Amino acid sequence: MAFQTHQFPYGNDNYGLLLHCTVTGQTACIDAGDDVATDAALAETGWRLSHIFITHHHSDHTTGLASLKKRHNASIFGPHIDSAASVLYDTRFQDKDEFEFSGRKVTVIATPGHTLDMLNFYIAEEDIVCTGDTLFVMGCGRIFEGDANMMWASLEKLLALPDHTVIYCSHEYTIANAAFALSIDPDNASLAARQGAIIELRENEFPTVPTRLDLEKATNPFLRVSDPSIRKHLGMENASNAEVFAEIRRRKDNF
Ligand SMILES: [Zn+2]
Repeated sequence: MAFQTHQFPYGNDNYGLLLHCTVTGQTACIDAGDDVATDAALAETGWRLSHIFITHHHSDHTTGLASLKKRHNASIFGPHIDSAASVLYDTRFQDKDEFEFSGRKVTVIATPGHTLDMLNFYIAEEDIVCTGDTLFVMGCGRIFEGDANMMWASLEKLLALPDHTVIYCSHEYTIANAAFALSIDPDNASLAARQGAIIELRENEFPTVPTRLDLEKATNPFLRVSDPSIRKHLGMENASNAEVFAEIRRRKDNF
């Protein structure tokens, strides 16, 4: 296997991710929220850090960036939009840009909403997308800088990826997300079954991340805004998808 991943926890509920190619020896870290945790993950794997891909400027994704960059002389790829962290980016990307990492094409998908600068990284050849704080397991990011229409348009870009795409997101919010999802989608048997499975995972201290797009399409209410039973439950049978999304997001903010 030429391409390997290593996910590691840091902070309260964050996940970092290392992407490693055994042929080139290159290793990319998704985000840089905690340089100590990242270095521990590198020590555990024996991989040498060559790249850092930044999804967005929030401090739990960028606090360790300066020290990691200095220590490893890594190339930093980050969003085109300016932030407190962006002076550290060597190469800056926007929607639909492409770059190469270890012989694989990485497609940049801008998914504004949580922040305006949010980038997701899609590696088609490996069926991996890193969604930062845009799409979570059975949830989505809180809208801090954009608006609901913008966030829905961002999620639609992720919905267009192949069903078997493996989704790495940046937080372990799944237990709370599942409880909320059931309040929106109470008759969904797949969702009820998945809630049981994720509770068991967490009881045994296993991560619920990564997930897969087809699983999310079946159980994530933020991706199921066109579902007739959800619309009926919300009394929004004739609303637009963006309107249903906005209502579900509003309810989550107050859940
Ligand atoms: Zn964030």
